[in-house]
Amino acid sequence: MMNVPFLNLAAQYAALKDELLPAVERALASGHYILGPNVAALENEIAALTGARFGVGVNSGSDALTLALRALEIGPGDEVITTPFTYIAPAESIHQMGARIVFADIDPRTFNLDPQDVARRITPRTRAIIAVHLFGQAAPLEPLMELCRAHRLHLIEDCAQAIGAEYHGKPVGSWGIMGCFSFYPTKNLGADGDGGMIVTQDEALNRRLRMLRVHGIEKRYYHDLHGYNSRLDELQAAILRVKLRHLADWNARRAAIAACYDAGLRDLPLQLPFTLEGNRHVYHVYAVLSDQRDALHQHLAEHGVPCIIYYPRPLHLQKVYADCGWKEGDYPVAENISHRILPLPMYPELTDAQVDYVITTIRQFFRPA
Ligand SMILES: *Cc1c(COP(=O)(O)O)cnc(C)c1O
Repeated sequence: MMNVPFLNLAAQYAALKDELLPAVERALASGHYILGPNVAALENEIAALTGARFGVGVNSGSDALTLALRALEIGPGDEVITTPFTYIAPAESIHQMGARIVFADIDPRTFNLDPQDVARRITPRTRAIIAVHLFGQAAPLEPLMELCRAHRLHLIEDCAQAIGAEYHGKPVGSWGIMGCFSFYPTKNLGADGDGGMIVTQDEALNRRLRMLRVHGIEKRYYHDLHGYNSRLDELQAAILRVKLRHLADWNARRAAIAACYDAGLRDLPLQLPFTLEGNRHVYHVYAVLSDQRDALHQHLAEHGVPCIIYYPRPLHLQKVYADCGWKEGDYPVAENISHRILPLPMYPELTDAQVDYVITTIRQFFRPA
């Protein structure tokens, strides 16, 4: 039996140690610890990668979403549409503004927002759509942008899982009014702590976001906006700049592993990841669907391949939203996927032998020898 950890961040560190330690040492010796030259350089590098004019480094991907909504002055009386099948951060940021969370159901093939269901949920109070590029694949940006144009809404892209992904040949992050990134350690580009960034083409928003992240300050000790403490530190920025040099290779390795899984599992009664035409997928997550999900999950765990299920409960059925009036059956596609989804190990440091072992172990479940 082989052990295949579901994630292995220590393996990433071991491979990068010789590059990371000198960068960390330089950052520590520089005397700049928060919002210094490394943050400024990283902002330019991420902006360039995403085709945006500006990058604004913040504390986390969650804060990136919160500051984006705040910068648009979304608040009580406003509605924002997003997906119930994702990490809670986008819904949480809407709630924090005092605005109303409106969920729309998802596409059963890609698990991204279904633009037709989004269209049905637009009201005169709708101000914005937060489109999550789930698992590393762009949401259907053109249909969503079309809805935004027709109804004068803002499109915010949640790119936390999709740095480096493309839609119709253009990177995610600069299609909407703002793109929000997370550098949580497990993301395709992860810091060794928390971090996030907002990218935008809009000069006024760039200025406002820079103020919001430091207590509404433009001139020190003069507060013009209700702000936050959401700053990115130099150590994380220095680490991210080293890792950014590897992102393209890492994303290519993720795609190669996905191709191995595709080839090795194709003939089994599983639904494999589906990539929409025109999308460049960066496989933050490689998830299969199975009607025997729980038994397959257990079989893999018993054979040294523990997997983590996301998302086991769609957001509209979470306890925290119990008083919002949603009930089972409201978002049938999201609910159905949450019962059948099984993410497999997916990170660049997986060896070919480990990938083969995962495939063999899954095949054994369906065709016991
Ligand atoms: C990780 C994640 C976030 C939040 O990022 P943090 O840096 O953990 O705050 C937001 N949205 C999605 C889709 C995520 O996966």
